[in-house]
Amino acid sequence: MTAGMLESLATIAGRDVVEHLHQLAAPLKGMRVVHVNSTRVGGGVAEILAKLVPLKRELGIDASWEVIAGEEEFYRCTKSFHNSLQGTIAPVSDRLLRVFEETGVRNAEALRPVLQDADLVFIHDPQPAPLLRHTPNRKGKWVWRCHIDVSRPYRPTWKYLRPFLAEYDASIFSLAAFSQSLPHPEYLIPPSIDPLSEKNQELPQEEIDAVRERFGIDPMRPLLVQVSRFDRFKDPIGVIRAYRLAKTFLPYLQLVLAGGGATDDPEGNAVLAEVEEASRDDPDIHVLLLPPDAHRTINALQRAADVVLQKSLREGFGLTVSEAMWKGKPVIGGDTGGIRLQVVDHHTGFLVSTPEGAALRIRYLFSDRERLQAMGRKAREFVRENFLLTRQLREYLALMVTLTRGAGDRVELD
Ligand code: UDP
Repeated sequence: MTAGMLESLATIAGRDVVEHLHQLAAPLKGMRVVHVNSTRVGGGVAEILAKLVPLKRELGIDASWEVIAGEEEFYRCTKSFHNSLQGTIAPVSDRLLRVFEETGVRNAEALRPVLQDADLVFIHDPQPAPLLRHTPNRKGKWVWRCHIDVSRPYRPTWKYLRPFLAEYDASIFSLAAFSQSLPHPEYLIPPSIDPLSEKNQELPQEEIDAVRERFGIDPMRPLLVQVSRFDRFKDPIGVIRAYRLAKTFLPYLQLVLAGGGATDDPEGNAVLAEVEEASRDDPDIHVLLLPPDAHRTINALQRAADVVLQKSLREGFGLTVSEAMWKGKPVIGGDTGGIRLQVVDHHTGFLVSTPEGAALRIRYLFSDRERLQAMGRKAREFVRENFLLTRQLREYLALMVTLTRGAGDRVELD
């Protein structure tokens, strides 16, 4: 099923890029590499593993993907870890910590035949972190891969988890700002988008037109789009303010705020209600509540946009930014977190801190269509070079070579 995935990627990322992957993977051929996380579906980690593992196999690496199992209390505990590592004050009871540790022991036993002999093990996020401690006589190198923003963790949670993590041979973070002090080498590998997925692949013009028509968007008038969960950190109200300010100069401007359902998130519903209230009197603001699998619709909306906004106040990475840039759109993004990696101010878009700043940039871009398009082209190339799946795979392979070839070949720079 996956044969040819690299071949297809070569048509987009370039044959040289895929050749480079083959070269990097040559010394890793036949190596047993295991990735472990806590879910096979849902969430960005599962999404990326569903692509990375088959790609590694296509490159001749004996890669596999294991998922740990736990009871309801285990997930309650790890959900608290997740929230508190991202800064929320969320103490975890001793009872739940015991469940966490027992679950680690049980899963380590179940996975022992696979883990003990693996040449390399990647443990994703905190849920499976105790596996290392309970795998005696391990043969390979173990890496902890952190996907979340741990720049300002709730200290008691970090203090509890750190001893588990300190035992690893290395760790990987998405951004330098997220790294923590650990007694081993830390590597940075930012996320990436899959250009072949439904969210990002080319779409026929008729499909884009049909999505415009379905939501009553006028194809003849300028369009701003922000795709985001209805979350205050994504600042949808700030987006509406920026749009209103810009509209005083661009009376035909339209705005789409598209986001997913928020049934299990009371704050999401509250934010959605605020957004609906703020946009009630303006038929040119389209607030769209989309189902979770509306990938092609989001793809079409991003393509229908002239300019994409991601005016977040805080942002881990912001996949929506690369998604829009890949579609040739300049992005006006909040000057925060991972958006700074993607938006090169004045080149692939603009970094802004206020609705006024965003409005100024909207006005500027629409006043010079050529410039708008040139920035969009640059944005696409910037993503091609930096934020496609192939780059993330290359960095994983380089890291795997480094870790398995030993210090003898390594050049230490410090
Ligand atoms: N997304 C989606 N439906 C929505 C809103 C967002 O499919 O209604 C997608 C979006 O296209 C992106 C991801 O969910 O791929 C959101 O990732 P991002 O890093 O931008 O933000 P997060 O939601 O993780 O804070």
